[in-house]
Amino acid sequence: MTCKVITNVVVFTVDRTDRIIKNGTVIVRNGLISAVGKKEEISIPIDADEIIDGRGQMALLPGLVDSHNHSSLMRGVAENMRLVDWLPVYDLEHRACTEEDAYHAARLSYLECLKNGTTTIMDMYRYMHRSAEAAGELGIRVHLAPYAADVQPYNFFETARDNEKLIKTHHMTQNGKIRVWMGLENLFYCSEEMYKGAIRAQQEYGVGIHTHGCEQEEEEQTVIRTFGKSTIDMLEQRGILGEKTLLAHCVWVNDDDIKKMAATGTNLAHCAISAAKLGCGVARIPLMLKEGVNVSIGSDGVIDNNSMDLFQEMKFASLIQKATNCDASIMSANQMLRMATINGAKSLNMENEIGSIEVGKSADMILVDFFRPNLQPVFWDEDETNLLWNLVFAAKGENVDTVMVQGEVLLRQGKSTKVSESEVMIMAQRQGEDWMRRREVHKKLTGLS
Ligand SMILES: [Zn+2]
Repeated sequence: MTCKVITNVVVFTVDRTDRIIKNGTVIVRNGLISAVGKKEEISIPIDADEIIDGRGQMALLPGLVDSHNHSSLMRGVAENMRLVDWLPVYDLEHRACTEEDAYHAARLSYLECLKNGTTTIMDMYRYMHRSAEAAGELGIRVHLAPYAADVQPYNFFETARDNEKLIKTHHMTQNGKIRVWMGLENLFYCSEEMYKGAIRAQQEYGVGIHTHGCEQEEEEQTVIRTFGKSTIDMLEQRGILGEKTLLAHCVWVNDDDIKKMAATGTNLAHCAISAAKLGCGVARIPLMLKEGVNVSIGSDGVIDNNSMDLFQEMKFASLIQKATNCDASIMSANQMLRMATINGAKSLNMENEIGSIEVGKSADMILVDFFRPNLQPVFWDEDETNLLWNLVFAAKGENVDTVMVQGEVLLRQGKSTKVSESEVMIMAQRQGEDWMRRREVHKKLTGLS
């Protein structure tokens, strides 16, 4: 029986009423939150193993959920390209990818995410038994959805068989921190058979399905030309729309598509920075929210985004909507925080376990140090505070001081408690250079150089 106490902190519960506690205490027993309240209402148990004192300078938030990510070592190597031109270049990374590449990619990516306050990642990548190994070293929570494809010439990706094997060997391992979903690249990379297989696996193992769609206008038009209907209609025909499905992107969806997503409970991983960077456009998030789609936030990984800081992501995703809709009243700080926490949890079917600071949930929480010039001063009016706006529109990942998952402290004073960060970076540098050399060979072979 372990007991941790976090006290003298501003608690952003992200519960149903978005309660903010000005000077709060949270008790964690055996990795679960056992009490949340005002400091004067909660007494510190005598058997507490550790007391983390925020000294009135820390905000306690639910750990952030990055609902669409691709761990990678390829940062800043495929720039200034539209998605259609970018995809064949991206494939070079995968043609050259080895198990060792995937392992070091996961270590570096997960470390970066943790340092930015992300406690749960949906990672779509390769050789994911090695991603699980990396996650175990860092202690982070990861959903693994292999990049699976079976249509020529994309069969250098993972197979449905690899995916099913990964479910058998890794789903719900590491005390439930590792969950395996069925991964499908997209409609052009995966045959009808693969969708059927994914549904069968979903029923047999109770896992979810994660895939991409409607990312770029040209891509969506090609879907309509090829299949005679929109991506969302195709996914409906293939039987995968539903609460256990998470779609990334959905920039180019029509009004009926949005209604279908809402009616079926299909979740969205909104990747605002990635969509902007790849020139895909701006997803119609205000309408999706109005129709009742569960919208969460994904970074899409370093190759599409260059960074994986969900604080940046919350700010950008809000501003791009305010700007393009010419409406400053939409996408509030409160809405953005929900998207990065509880909505993310829901998109991974984990809203009863993580995503808010409530009794009975797993202690996946972060402390943000707000005694920093970029987050001061802080004002209060009853239970309302500008700190909420400061956190969403002014905070950076580097303001994150402490990260815990299942009550275990994984980051203290901004540093990993589990791994040597320099060792992770040195190994990633070495592996990255080697990977880039092997990638060059494929570049010549495919005539892309
Ligand atoms: Zn993606």
